[in-house]
Order: sequence, then structure tokens, then C-alpha cells
Amino acid sequence: MAESDEQITNQIGLEQNFLGSKESARSLPKDSLPKDAMPANVAAQLVQHYRLNEAKANQNLATFCTTEMEPQADHLMTDALNTNAIDKSEYPKTAAMENYCVSMLAHLWGLPESQKMYRDFIGTSTVGSSEGCMLGGLSLLQSWKHRAEKIGFDTKDLHHHKPNLVIMSGYQVVWEKFCVYWNVEMRQVPIDQDHMSMDMDHVMDYVDENTIGIIGIHGITYTGAVDDIQKLDQLVSEYNKTAVMPLRIHVDGAFGALFSPFVDGFKPWDFRLKNVVSINVSGHKYGMVYPGIGWIVWRHNTDDILPKEMRFSVPYLGSTVDSIAINFSHSGAHIVGQYYNFVRFGYAGYKAIMNNVRKVSLRITDELNKFGLFDVLNDGKQLPINCWKLKDDAPVKWNLYDLESELAKYGWQVPAYPLPKNRQDTTISRVVVRPSMSMTITDDFIEDLKLAIANLNKTHGTTNLDTSNPTAMTINNK
Ligand SMILES: *Cc1c(COP(=O)(O)O)cnc(C)c1O
Repeated sequence: MAESDEQITNQIGLEQNFLGSKESARSLPKDSLPKDAMPANVAAQLVQHYRLNEAKANQNLATFCTTEMEPQADHLMTDALNTNAIDKSEYPKTAAMENYCVSMLAHLWGLPESQKMYRDFIGTSTVGSSEGCMLGGLSLLQSWKHRAEKIGFDTKDLHHHKPNLVIMSGYQVVWEKFCVYWNVEMRQVPIDQDHMSMDMDHVMDYVDENTIGIIGIHGITYTGAVDDIQKLDQLVSEYNKTAVMPLRIHVDGAFGALFSPFVDGFKPWDFRLKNVVSINVSGHKYGMVYPGIGWIVWRHNTDDILPKEMRFSVPYLGSTVDSIAINFSHSGAHIVGQYYNFVRFGYAGYKAIMNNVRKVSLRITDELNKFGLFDVLNDGKQLPINCWKLKDDAPVKWNLYDLESELAKYGWQVPAYPLPKNRQDTTISRVVVRPSMSMTITDDFIEDLKLAIANLNKTHGTTNLDTSNPTAMTINNK
């Protein structure tokens, strides 16, 4: 009797592997849980294959997130994947490492070394900056409510006392979420031709006694520019001299706060300024850990700065400690990865790495200028983000969306998108230079950029991308 194909396949052992298995000739299950199991090898290879067409990390110039760590870090993190950072009693060393990282950040951001964690200042790891921003915003909101009630405001009277938050219009989308979730009015200080960061001539026009705080952005996602937080701090100090409700500043340093402390060229933006009460950063951006980890530090461990209702007790070695984060369970692996990076590289290591990043960013600016076609809006002299627009009189028939498509043919992801409100008619392209972008990769990129532009000039490309598409939203989410 003739054997069925299936019997033959089974006899020669192919069912345990990908090549020749019946699964490899079927589409992967998509809609509902498959009825049957499949061998681990086959499933692993199928999933691996499925992922192969995703962006290549080296060529993804769109993301801020870490795509490469050292093998030692990979190993440590893999080892810690099965831990739960919230179980502080079960994993006391992970809890300790979390505190050490908070402390290192607090001091890196200008708190004196003599100040000690959990007496003078306080902080926590988060899933990313979004959670950090949410916590920073919430502490401003709760603290405003307490202070407002103390001086007799009826904070339930939203007609007279609806809380508001002041921020420049190129904010990351998390701030919009914060305002929607907690019913806070967002007051956007618009950008214009001369003010690509917060407009210090007008910011104070937006504040009143219902302002819970001002967000200073140390690294604007759209362009890589920074708000002049030193100037903002002066304005706030001046205002606070006579204010019934003194103002506070939270700094969203998602990517800048782990870059600028290591290189020259920045005015004070952190706890060196006395009105800055809290700072958040993404550990998975220039902290050089895989997503997702973030951090927030409050400069004083007082109920005034971090109100009581935001502190929850979790058991820790026979007593309890404050848990502040919104998310409960998450792996301890990222904390281990962050702590590894801090002890491995130290200040000198981060400095060397970030200086290399800066060299690459400056090189890209040089090359962009050579084309004579672009106005460079962010040149890498501060944060290592290259961002440019086409000159108004550039003699070309293509636009930056065409350039995005053309570069994608070479594998590079370089998004084009409109600037925020008030300048949304301007389209820009952005490259985020990350530590894994070596000069050799940059050489390749520049070569391909030249080819892409030559091709576009030849074909007079027209875009088939829908430019009304809110690409900025995608950018915002990176
Ligand atoms: C990336 C970013 C965020 C959000 O950070 P995640 O770590 O992705 O949650 C917030 N603010 C700014 C300025 C950012 O660049």
C-alpha cells in the first residue's frame, strides 16, 4: 500500500523541523488560536522567518530606541527576564539596583552628592518616558490641587479652576494623553519661524493661577531642538515672587537627559535650576538599554512635591517601601541592563560614546550642506538629531516624501513629516543618530543619499505618499 506524504515526512523526521514540514507550506495562524500544537523548532523558525522582513536596526534612522547592546548585557538581561521588578522582597538586589540607578541619575542631573536617595530625593523606574511624563504631570496636578485648596480655591469648580498645563507645541503625544486622561487644559505655546523651541517672549502669557506647571522639553522629538529651560527658570522665579500659586517646571528629557550631561554645549536645564521639580528620561533611548525602561526623579522627597496619594506601599524585606510607578509587574531585566551600562561605561564611557555620536551627526550636517538643496534646522551641535527641509528655491521637482521613499529602496528609514501647528506647511526629514551608528554605516548612508538624490533628479519623482497622512503621529510615537 502506498504511503501517504504525511507518513513519509514523519518517517524521515522532517516534521520536527521547518524545511519540508507541512507547517512551512501553510500561512501562519492569524485570526484565531490554532487548534493543534506544532513542534517547537518549527514554530520558532516560522516566527523567526516572519520577522526577517522587519526593519534592519542599523538602517533605521527613524527611531530613538536602542537596538544594540553588548553581548554581556544581552546575557545579563536574558538571565533576568523571568524576574518581576515589583517583587522587591523576592528580588531585593534588583530593587537595590533600581535605587542605585535613580541615585546616579539624580546626581548626574545636578543634585549634590551629599543628598541621599529616599531621604532627600525620590524616583522610580518606569516602562518608558511616557509613564515618567504621566507621573511627572500627575504630581504637578495633585500638588496644585492641594496648594489651591489651601488658599481657598474650589478645585471642583471647573469653570473657574480648571487646571492647565503649559508646553510648547512640539510636544510628544504623551502630554496630550496626560491632558485628556486627567481633564487638564493643554496650553500650547506655538512655534514660529524664529522660535523652534518654547517662545520665551510669550510663554508667561499662557500661565495663570490654574497652571499646574510648565513642561520644559530637553530634546524636542520633532526636531531635536531644546527649550531654553534656564531662561524659563528665570521667568518662573520672577513670576513666583508675587504669585498666589507659584509655578513649577517638569523637564521632559526623554532623549536629551542622557545625552547632554556628557557633552559640551548645553545651558543648565536640570536640578541646577531651582524651579525644576522633576525630570524624566527614557533608559531605552540614550540610556542605551532595549525598550522598555524609563526613569523619573523628583528633587525633594516631600509630600508637597510628590503627594502622599501617589505613594503606595509594597513589601520589602520585612518592611515596606513606596511604589510610585503606574505599571505593576514588569521584568527586572531592564533595570539590570541599565545598571550594567552605568557601571560598565561610567561617566567617561558615556562621554566617549556620545562624543562619537555627535561626530557622526556633524558629519551628516556637512554632507547635507554640500548638496546646496537643504536648510538644516538641527545640525547636531547640541542634540544629535539631523533635521532639514528643502530650501524654498531648491531647483528640484521632488519633495522630502519622495526622498523618504527613495531612501527606503536602499533600506534606510528617514521619515518626512510636517512641523507642528503654526508651521505645518513646512515638511522636514529627520535622522536620529544613535550610538550604534558608526562612521562606516554613515559612509554607506551618505553614498545612498547621493544616489537617491541623483535618481530623484533624474526621474523628477512625484510622491505617491498621502501627505495629509498624520505621519507626525507616527514620529511622535517613536
Ligand atoms: C520618546 C519621547 C517620549 C516618550 O518616551 P517613551 O520612552 O517612548 O515612552 C516622551 N517625550 C519625548 C520628548 C520623547 O522624545
